[in-house]
Amino acid sequence: MLKDKNEQRTSISELGEFGLIKHLTKYFKIQQESTEKAIGDDAAVLEFSDKQTLVTTDLLVEGVHFDLAYMPLKHLGYKAVMVNLSDVYAMNGTATQITVSIALSNRFPLEAVEELYAGIQLACDTYKVDLIGGDTTSSTTGLLISVTALGEVTEQDVVYRNGAKPNDLLVVSGDIGGAYLGLQVLEREKQVFAANPNSQPDLEQYSYIVERQLKPEARKDIIKLLKDLEVKPTSMIDISDGLSSEILHLSTQSEVGCNLYEDKIPLDPQVISTCEEFEIDATTIALSGGEDYELLFTIKQEDFPKIKANPHLTVIGHMTDESEGINLVTRANQKIELTAQGWNSFKKD
Ligand code: ADP
Ligand code: MG
Repeated sequence: MLKDKNEQRTSISELGEFGLIKHLTKYFKIQQESTEKAIGDDAAVLEFSDKQTLVTTDLLVEGVHFDLAYMPLKHLGYKAVMVNLSDVYAMNGTATQITVSIALSNRFPLEAVEELYAGIQLACDTYKVDLIGGDTTSSTTGLLISVTALGEVTEQDVVYRNGAKPNDLLVVSGDIGGAYLGLQVLEREKQVFAANPNSQPDLEQYSYIVERQLKPEARKDIIKLLKDLEVKPTSMIDISDGLSSEILHLSTQSEVGCNLYEDKIPLDPQVISTCEEFEIDATTIALSGGEDYELLFTIKQEDFPKIKANPHLTVIGHMTDESEGINLVTRANQKIELTAQGWNSFKKD
Protein backbone atom coordinates (compact mmCIF):
# COMPACT_ATOMS: atom_id res chain seq x y z
CA MET A 1 0.00 0.00 0.00
CA LEU A 2 1.08 3.56 -0.80
CA LYS A 3 4.25 2.21 -2.36
CA ASP A 4 5.42 2.89 -5.86
CA LYS A 5 5.93 -0.62 -7.11
CA ASN A 6 8.43 -1.21 -9.84
CA GLU A 7 6.53 -3.86 -11.70
CA GLN A 8 6.08 -5.10 -15.20
CA ARG A 9 3.95 -2.85 -17.39
CA THR A 10 2.42 -4.43 -20.45
CA SER A 11 0.55 -2.01 -22.67
CA ILE A 12 -3.08 -2.97 -23.24
CA SER A 13 -2.77 -1.99 -26.90
CA GLU A 14 -0.53 -5.06 -27.39
CA LEU A 15 -3.58 -7.26 -26.79
CA GLY A 16 -6.36 -5.26 -28.39
CA GLU A 17 -9.87 -5.06 -26.95
CA PHE A 18 -10.97 -8.60 -27.79
CA GLY A 19 -7.66 -10.05 -26.67
CA LEU A 20 -7.97 -8.16 -23.41
CA ILE A 21 -11.49 -9.41 -22.65
CA LYS A 22 -10.50 -12.97 -23.48
CA HIS A 23 -7.37 -12.71 -21.36
CA LEU A 24 -9.21 -11.29 -18.36
CA THR A 25 -12.15 -13.65 -18.39
CA LYS A 26 -10.68 -17.01 -19.38
CA TYR A 27 -10.49 -18.43 -15.84
CA PHE A 28 -14.01 -17.47 -14.76
CA LYS A 29 -16.22 -20.53 -14.42
CA ILE A 30 -19.98 -20.79 -14.69
CA GLN A 31 -21.65 -21.82 -11.44
CA GLN A 32 -25.33 -20.95 -11.84
CA GLU A 33 -27.93 -23.14 -13.50
CA SER A 34 -29.73 -20.05 -14.73
CA THR A 35 -26.77 -19.02 -16.91
CA GLU A 36 -27.47 -20.42 -20.38
CA LYS A 37 -24.88 -18.34 -22.26
CA ALA A 38 -22.28 -16.05 -20.68
CA ILE A 39 -19.50 -14.07 -22.39
CA GLY A 40 -18.93 -14.41 -26.11
CA ASP A 41 -22.12 -13.65 -27.97
CA ASP A 42 -23.95 -10.38 -28.54
CA ALA A 43 -25.91 -10.86 -25.33
CA ALA A 44 -25.93 -13.27 -22.43
CA VAL A 45 -28.88 -15.66 -22.10
CA LEU A 46 -30.46 -16.44 -18.71
CA GLU A 47 -33.27 -18.76 -17.67
CA PHE A 48 -34.87 -17.95 -14.32
CA SER A 49 -37.89 -20.28 -14.70
CA ASP A 50 -40.52 -19.46 -12.06
CA LYS A 51 -38.53 -16.90 -10.06
CA GLN A 52 -38.62 -13.13 -10.13
CA THR A 53 -35.49 -11.45 -11.49
CA LEU A 54 -33.60 -8.80 -9.51
CA VAL A 55 -31.44 -6.24 -11.31
CA THR A 56 -29.22 -3.62 -9.70
CA THR A 57 -26.30 -1.52 -10.88
CA ASP A 58 -23.62 0.77 -9.47
CA LEU A 59 -21.03 3.00 -11.10
CA LEU A 60 -17.72 3.70 -9.34
CA VAL A 61 -15.59 6.61 -10.54
CA GLU A 62 -11.94 7.18 -9.64
CA GLY A 63 -11.50 10.31 -7.56
CA VAL A 64 -15.19 10.28 -6.56
CA HIS A 65 -15.78 6.80 -5.11
CA PHE A 66 -12.25 5.51 -4.65
CA ASP A 67 -8.67 6.69 -4.49
CA LEU A 68 -6.06 4.34 -5.91
CA ALA A 69 -3.45 5.83 -3.56
CA TYR A 70 -4.74 3.48 -0.86
CA MET A 71 -7.24 1.25 -2.63
CA PRO A 72 -5.44 -1.73 -4.19
CA LEU A 73 -7.02 -2.65 -7.54
CA LYS A 74 -7.77 -6.18 -6.39
CA HIS A 75 -9.78 -4.81 -3.49
CA LEU A 76 -11.52 -2.35 -5.78
CA GLY A 77 -12.66 -5.19 -8.05
CA TYR A 78 -13.92 -7.14 -5.06
CA LYS A 79 -15.71 -4.16 -3.54
CA ALA A 80 -17.33 -3.15 -6.84
CA VAL A 81 -18.98 -6.58 -6.89
CA MET A 82 -19.88 -6.50 -3.17
CA VAL A 83 -21.79 -3.21 -3.34
CA ASN A 84 -24.04 -4.75 -5.98
CA LEU A 85 -24.51 -8.15 -4.35
CA SER A 86 -25.43 -6.34 -1.17
CA ASP A 87 -28.38 -4.75 -3.00
CA VAL A 88 -29.57 -8.16 -4.21
CA TYR A 89 -29.39 -9.62 -0.68
CA ALA A 90 -31.27 -6.58 0.62
CA MET A 91 -34.22 -7.80 -1.48
CA ASN A 92 -33.91 -11.18 0.30
CA GLY A 93 -32.74 -12.65 -2.98
CA THR A 94 -29.91 -14.82 -4.32
CA ALA A 95 -27.27 -13.14 -6.48
CA THR A 96 -26.60 -15.15 -9.62
CA GLN A 97 -24.80 -13.13 -12.31
CA ILE A 98 -22.87 -9.91 -12.85
CA THR A 99 -21.76 -7.82 -15.78
CA VAL A 100 -18.68 -5.61 -15.48
CA SER A 101 -18.00 -2.55 -17.59
CA ILE A 102 -14.76 -0.64 -17.39
CA ALA A 103 -13.29 2.51 -18.89
CA LEU A 104 -9.51 2.78 -18.68
CA SER A 105 -7.05 5.56 -19.37
CA ASN A 106 -3.69 4.64 -20.90
CA ARG A 107 -2.19 5.07 -17.42
CA PHE A 108 -3.30 1.50 -16.67
CA PRO A 109 -1.10 -1.36 -17.88
CA LEU A 110 -2.43 -4.87 -18.38
CA GLU A 111 -1.07 -5.90 -14.97
CA ALA A 112 -3.33 -3.34 -13.28
CA VAL A 113 -6.45 -4.62 -15.04
CA GLU A 114 -5.43 -8.17 -14.16
CA GLU A 115 -5.38 -7.17 -10.50
CA LEU A 116 -8.84 -5.63 -10.82
CA TYR A 117 -10.16 -8.84 -12.38
CA ALA A 118 -8.46 -10.99 -9.75
CA GLY A 119 -10.65 -9.20 -7.18
CA ILE A 120 -13.74 -9.63 -9.33
CA GLN A 121 -12.99 -13.32 -9.75
CA LEU A 122 -12.46 -13.83 -6.03
CA ALA A 123 -15.85 -12.23 -5.42
CA CYS A 124 -17.50 -14.42 -8.07
CA ASP A 125 -15.98 -17.60 -6.62
CA THR A 126 -16.79 -16.74 -3.02
CA TYR A 127 -20.37 -15.68 -3.68
CA LYS A 128 -21.09 -18.17 -6.51
CA VAL A 129 -22.02 -15.63 -9.15
CA ASP A 130 -21.23 -15.84 -12.86
CA LEU A 131 -19.55 -13.11 -14.89
CA ILE A 132 -21.72 -13.02 -18.00
CA GLY A 133 -20.55 -9.95 -19.89
CA GLY A 134 -19.70 -6.30 -19.83
CA ASP A 135 -18.12 -3.62 -21.91
CA THR A 136 -14.60 -2.27 -22.25
CA THR A 137 -13.69 1.18 -23.42
CA SER A 138 -11.10 3.91 -22.94
CA SER A 139 -11.27 6.98 -20.75
CA THR A 140 -9.28 10.19 -20.99
CA THR A 141 -8.77 10.54 -17.27
CA GLY A 142 -9.15 7.80 -14.71
CA LEU A 143 -10.78 4.46 -14.13
CA LEU A 144 -14.51 3.85 -14.16
CA ILE A 145 -16.05 0.56 -13.20
CA SER A 146 -19.71 -0.27 -13.44
CA VAL A 147 -21.12 -3.55 -12.17
CA THR A 148 -24.64 -4.81 -12.73
CA ALA A 149 -25.82 -7.70 -10.58
CA LEU A 150 -28.70 -10.02 -11.34
CA GLY A 151 -30.44 -12.23 -8.87
CA GLU A 152 -33.51 -14.30 -8.26
CA VAL A 153 -36.16 -14.42 -5.60
CA THR A 154 -39.58 -16.00 -5.26
CA GLU A 155 -42.66 -13.81 -5.01
CA GLN A 156 -43.19 -15.07 -1.41
CA ASP A 157 -39.62 -14.28 -0.33
CA VAL A 158 -39.05 -10.82 -1.81
CA VAL A 159 -38.70 -8.08 0.81
CA TYR A 160 -39.21 -4.42 -0.05
CA ARG A 161 -38.37 -1.26 1.85
CA ASN A 162 -42.01 -0.41 2.39
CA GLY A 163 -43.36 -3.28 4.49
CA ALA A 164 -42.59 -2.16 8.06
CA LYS A 165 -45.50 -1.83 10.51
CA PRO A 166 -45.77 -0.02 13.87
CA ASN A 167 -44.31 -2.18 16.69
CA ASP A 168 -42.02 -4.12 14.35
CA LEU A 169 -38.49 -4.46 15.72
CA LEU A 170 -35.61 -2.75 13.93
CA VAL A 171 -32.62 -5.08 13.53
CA VAL A 172 -29.11 -4.60 12.14
CA SER A 173 -26.51 -7.23 11.21
CA GLY A 174 -22.87 -7.05 12.32
CA ASP A 175 -21.53 -3.73 13.55
CA ILE A 176 -21.40 -0.32 11.94
CA GLY A 177 -19.22 2.77 11.53
CA GLY A 178 -16.05 0.78 10.80
CA ALA A 179 -15.83 1.39 7.05
CA TYR A 180 -16.05 5.16 7.39
CA LEU A 181 -13.47 5.26 10.17
CA GLY A 182 -11.18 3.00 8.14
CA LEU A 183 -11.36 5.58 5.37
CA GLN A 184 -10.38 8.33 7.82
CA VAL A 185 -7.33 6.31 8.89
CA LEU A 186 -6.33 5.69 5.25
CA GLU A 187 -6.79 9.37 4.36
CA ARG A 188 -4.57 10.33 7.29
CA GLU A 189 -1.88 7.88 6.21
CA LYS A 190 -2.03 9.31 2.70
CA GLN A 191 -1.31 12.80 4.09
CA VAL A 192 1.56 11.46 6.19
CA PHE A 193 2.98 9.69 3.15
CA ALA A 194 2.67 12.84 1.01
CA ALA A 195 4.68 14.77 3.60
CA ASN A 196 7.26 12.02 4.04
CA PRO A 197 7.45 9.38 1.28
CA ASN A 198 9.83 7.28 3.39
CA SER A 199 7.25 6.75 6.13
CA GLN A 200 5.94 3.23 6.54
CA PRO A 201 2.31 3.10 7.60
CA ASP A 202 1.61 0.94 10.64
CA LEU A 203 -2.06 0.07 10.43
CA GLU A 204 -1.92 -2.92 12.78
CA GLN A 205 -4.17 -1.41 15.43
CA TYR A 206 -6.67 -0.36 12.72
CA SER A 207 -6.76 -3.68 10.86
CA TYR A 208 -10.48 -4.33 11.37
CA ILE A 209 -11.73 -0.91 10.30
CA VAL A 210 -9.32 -0.69 7.35
CA GLU A 211 -10.55 -4.08 6.18
CA ARG A 212 -14.14 -2.89 6.55
CA GLN A 213 -13.29 -0.06 4.12
CA LEU A 214 -11.13 -1.98 1.66
CA LYS A 215 -12.71 -5.41 1.66
CA PRO A 216 -16.37 -5.28 2.65
CA GLU A 217 -18.46 -8.46 2.52
CA ALA A 218 -22.07 -8.51 1.35
CA ARG A 219 -24.22 -10.31 3.94
CA LYS A 220 -25.28 -13.37 1.97
CA ASP A 221 -24.84 -15.28 5.23
CA ILE A 222 -27.53 -13.22 6.96
CA ILE A 223 -30.07 -13.98 4.22
CA LYS A 224 -29.38 -17.69 4.75
CA LEU A 225 -29.50 -17.29 8.52
CA LEU A 226 -32.92 -15.62 8.38
CA LYS A 227 -34.23 -18.41 6.13
CA ASP A 228 -32.87 -21.03 8.54
CA LEU A 229 -34.48 -19.22 11.48
CA GLU A 230 -37.73 -18.94 9.51
CA VAL A 231 -37.81 -15.18 9.90
CA LYS A 232 -39.02 -13.14 6.96
CA PRO A 233 -38.25 -9.43 7.44
CA THR A 234 -41.16 -7.06 6.89
CA SER A 235 -38.84 -4.52 5.27
CA MET A 236 -35.13 -4.45 4.46
CA ILE A 237 -32.34 -2.23 3.08
CA ASP A 238 -28.56 -2.46 2.98
CA ILE A 239 -26.46 0.14 4.77
CA SER A 240 -24.50 1.94 2.09
CA ASP A 241 -25.02 5.55 3.19
CA GLY A 242 -25.20 5.36 6.98
CA LEU A 243 -27.69 4.06 9.50
CA SER A 244 -29.60 7.31 9.75
CA SER A 245 -30.40 7.72 6.09
CA GLU A 246 -31.33 4.03 5.74
CA ILE A 247 -33.72 4.23 8.71
CA LEU A 248 -35.33 7.23 7.05
CA HIS A 249 -35.80 5.23 3.84
CA LEU A 250 -37.45 2.29 5.63
CA SER A 251 -39.65 4.55 7.76
CA THR A 252 -40.82 6.98 5.09
CA GLN A 253 -41.43 4.27 2.48
CA SER A 254 -43.33 2.17 5.06
CA GLU A 255 -45.19 5.25 6.38
CA VAL A 256 -44.24 4.51 9.99
CA GLY A 257 -42.23 6.26 12.70
CA CYS A 258 -39.19 4.84 14.45
CA ASN A 259 -37.35 4.96 17.76
CA LEU A 260 -33.66 4.10 17.47
CA TYR A 261 -31.87 3.53 20.79
CA GLU A 262 -28.36 5.00 20.92
CA ASP A 263 -27.11 2.50 23.51
CA LYS A 264 -28.13 -0.46 21.31
CA ILE A 265 -26.10 0.49 18.22
CA PRO A 266 -23.47 -2.27 17.72
CA LEU A 267 -19.93 -0.86 17.59
CA ASP A 268 -16.67 -2.77 17.33
CA PRO A 269 -14.14 -1.97 20.11
CA GLN A 270 -11.79 -0.69 17.38
CA VAL A 271 -14.46 1.77 16.26
CA ILE A 272 -14.82 3.03 19.82
CA SER A 273 -11.06 3.38 20.44
CA THR A 274 -10.43 5.05 17.06
CA CYS A 275 -13.29 7.48 17.68
CA GLU A 276 -11.63 8.40 20.98
CA GLU A 277 -8.33 8.92 19.21
CA PHE A 278 -9.91 11.11 16.50
CA GLU A 279 -12.05 12.85 19.13
CA ILE A 280 -15.28 12.14 17.30
CA ASP A 281 -18.54 10.78 18.62
CA ALA A 282 -19.06 7.10 17.79
CA THR A 283 -22.83 7.53 17.45
CA THR A 284 -22.29 10.26 14.84
CA ILE A 285 -20.05 7.90 12.88
CA ALA A 286 -22.55 5.06 13.08
CA LEU A 287 -25.41 7.29 11.95
CA SER A 288 -23.66 9.23 9.22
CA GLY A 289 -20.72 7.09 8.10
CA GLY A 290 -21.43 4.66 5.32
CA GLU A 291 -20.22 1.73 3.24
CA ASP A 292 -20.70 -0.84 5.98
CA TYR A 293 -22.91 -2.99 3.73
CA GLU A 294 -24.69 -4.50 6.70
CA LEU A 295 -28.39 -5.29 6.45
CA LEU A 296 -31.01 -3.22 8.25
CA PHE A 297 -34.44 -4.77 8.52
CA THR A 298 -37.63 -4.96 10.51
CA ILE A 299 -39.27 -8.07 11.93
CA LYS A 300 -42.55 -8.82 13.66
CA GLN A 301 -42.37 -8.82 17.48
CA GLU A 302 -43.41 -12.48 17.53
CA ASP A 303 -40.18 -13.38 15.68
CA PHE A 304 -37.98 -11.88 18.40
CA PRO A 305 -37.32 -15.19 20.24
CA LYS A 306 -35.90 -16.65 17.02
CA ILE A 307 -33.22 -13.98 16.65
CA LYS A 308 -32.51 -12.82 20.18
CA ALA A 309 -29.60 -15.17 20.95
CA ASN A 310 -27.87 -14.53 17.65
CA PRO A 311 -24.51 -12.73 17.88
CA HIS A 312 -24.79 -11.44 14.29
CA LEU A 313 -28.07 -9.61 14.88
CA THR A 314 -28.88 -6.68 17.16
CA VAL A 315 -32.27 -5.15 17.88
CA ILE A 316 -31.63 -1.39 17.83
CA GLY A 317 -35.14 0.01 17.97
CA HIS A 318 -38.74 -0.37 16.96
CA MET A 319 -41.18 1.15 14.54
CA THR A 320 -44.01 3.39 15.76
CA ASP A 321 -47.01 5.19 14.41
CA GLU A 322 -46.02 7.64 11.68
CA SER A 323 -47.18 10.58 13.81
CA GLU A 324 -44.46 9.87 16.39
CA GLY A 325 -41.70 10.73 13.92
CA ILE A 326 -38.27 9.20 13.39
CA ASN A 327 -36.12 9.59 16.48
CA LEU A 328 -32.87 8.78 18.18
CA VAL A 329 -33.36 8.00 21.87
CA THR A 330 -30.07 9.03 23.47
CA ARG A 331 -28.26 7.42 26.41
CA ALA A 332 -29.61 10.30 28.49
CA ASN A 333 -33.10 9.21 27.37
CA GLN A 334 -33.63 12.29 25.25
CA LYS A 335 -35.58 11.99 22.01
CA ILE A 336 -33.93 13.70 19.04
CA GLU A 337 -35.31 13.77 15.52
CA LEU A 338 -33.17 11.84 13.00
CA THR A 339 -32.15 13.47 9.75
CA ALA A 340 -30.27 12.00 6.78
CA GLN A 341 -27.06 13.56 8.11
CA GLY A 342 -27.49 12.05 11.57
CA TRP A 343 -29.79 14.00 13.78
CA ASN A 344 -31.22 17.45 14.09
CA SER A 345 -29.63 18.82 17.25
CA PHE A 346 -31.78 21.95 17.16
CA LYS A 347 -35.09 20.18 17.47
CA LYS A 348 -35.52 18.43 20.80
CA ASP A 349 -38.61 17.43 22.71
P1 ADP B 1 -20.26 -5.91 -28.52
O1 ADP B 1 -19.43 -5.26 -29.55
O2 ADP B 1 -21.34 -6.81 -29.06
O3 ADP B 1 -20.73 -4.96 -27.46
P2 ADP B 1 -17.94 -6.63 -27.05
O4 ADP B 1 -16.84 -6.80 -28.02
O5 ADP B 1 -18.01 -5.35 -26.32
O6 ADP B 1 -19.31 -6.96 -27.79
O7 ADP B 1 -17.89 -7.83 -26.01
C1 ADP B 1 -17.70 -9.15 -26.39
C2 ADP B 1 -18.09 -10.05 -25.28
O8 ADP B 1 -17.27 -9.79 -24.14
C3 ADP B 1 -19.53 -9.81 -24.80
O9 ADP B 1 -20.02 -11.06 -24.35
C4 ADP B 1 -19.35 -8.87 -23.66
O10 ADP B 1 -20.44 -8.97 -22.73
C5 ADP B 1 -18.04 -9.34 -23.05
N1 ADP B 1 -17.28 -8.26 -22.38
C6 ADP B 1 -16.88 -7.09 -22.91
N2 ADP B 1 -16.19 -6.35 -22.04
C7 ADP B 1 -16.15 -7.06 -20.89
C8 ADP B 1 -15.59 -6.86 -19.60
N3 ADP B 1 -14.93 -5.73 -19.26
N4 ADP B 1 -15.76 -7.81 -18.66
C9 ADP B 1 -16.44 -8.93 -18.97
N5 ADP B 1 -16.97 -9.21 -20.14
C10 ADP B 1 -16.85 -8.30 -21.12
MG1 MG C 1 -19.38 -3.78 -26.26
